[in-house]
Amino acid sequence: TIKLSTRVQSVKPSATLAITARAKELRAAGKDVIGLGAGEPDFDTPDHIKQAAIEAINAGFTKYTAVDGTPELKRAIIAKFQRDNGIDYAPEQILVSCGGKQSFFNLAQAVLDPGDEVVIPAPYWVSYPDMVLLASAAPVLVHAGAEQQFKMTPNQLRGAMTDKTRLVVINSPSNPTGMAYTQAELAALGEVLREFPRTLIATDDMYEHIVWPERQPFVNIVNVCPDLLPRTLVLNGVSKAYSMTGWRIGYAGGPESVIKAMKKIQSQSTSNPTSISQVAAQAALEGPQDCIGEMLTAFKARHDLVVERLNAIPGIDCLPTDGTFYVFPKVQGLIDAIDGVRDDLELAEYLIEQAGVALVPGSAFGSPGYARISIATSQQNLEHALERIAKVAG
Ligand code: PLP
Repeated sequence: TIKLSTRVQSVKPSATLAITARAKELRAAGKDVIGLGAGEPDFDTPDHIKQAAIEAINAGFTKYTAVDGTPELKRAIIAKFQRDNGIDYAPEQILVSCGGKQSFFNLAQAVLDPGDEVVIPAPYWVSYPDMVLLASAAPVLVHAGAEQQFKMTPNQLRGAMTDKTRLVVINSPSNPTGMAYTQAELAALGEVLREFPRTLIATDDMYEHIVWPERQPFVNIVNVCPDLLPRTLVLNGVSKAYSMTGWRIGYAGGPESVIKAMKKIQSQSTSNPTSISQVAAQAALEGPQDCIGEMLTAFKARHDLVVERLNAIPGIDCLPTDGTFYVFPKVQGLIDAIDGVRDDLELAEYLIEQAGVALVPGSAFGSPGYARISIATSQQNLEHALERIAKVAG
């Protein structure tokens, strides 16, 4: 047998991608499976964005660009940070990468050493702990259940901090829970972070634009605690807001020294993100923003439907969210009620085989007893899926 690295053996493949693959496999075998596992909007990329990319191809914009992104896209990102977040960055403080995923990967590689700890609230986006492990550092998980709206409290944060804590990750609104920290909650976390001046902060704002209009408008930790800006990395991207997951463009703003180090990592791995995608991302950021509103309206209608229907099923409790295209119901009651099903992993298997519904078990996000349901599919699909779950739930 061929020996593989200790590093690769320390991580697992993305569980969300695995569920999608299993659903696809069953569908190919002729089984009728409704997929509620998707981590991407079900809308097409808006036309003006696609058009900009087509024009870029025709104009021959198909060669290497600067590693950290074209000056034009970086200008658009700087303007976006000013417009939406009230943050002023210089071009040296911006790095464009191949998706938000690479932004966090670069960050982990640039700032973590063996023995370093990274505080990650659970439920978490599946990739944070594994990317920390790939950087030979240790994830420190802080568990936040439905009773605390899946949000880390200041006391929990303080309890998780040690002199080895190098980075604290905040993802709001959150994948998988859909919950966003309020201004007051961020201020309280900021108070704790001030006690640990050597710790960096990563705010992953990927779902910034998918917040229900009646909820508190989006804010991140540096809006509430501007004094933390010099040690905060603001991560964002075009994947979710503009339905551009396949284009692979994410970006980071932050202290120049860290951005420079992240750029060095990127220069020795992927180099620049795709030239054509960068033109498309620029069009997304600089063009009309009404495409976001249209998606938001659809997601909110589906959210309302799904939360109501889920709560009508015995054994399922689902909190309404602040945004994103996920809900994260507690399914422990359903697990207890079904013979032969012992945990959320077995429930997901049972639902895919017996009900023809694919969802992602909470364990994949560090929270057993829950499940993530993606509402990035048609209302009709959602209604059918919920009928099927209700049926097997009895
Ligand atoms: N951050 C969060 C919280 C996400 O949910 C995702 C995608 O699922 C990403 C970052 C990465 O997005 P991408 O690499 O597709 O731009």
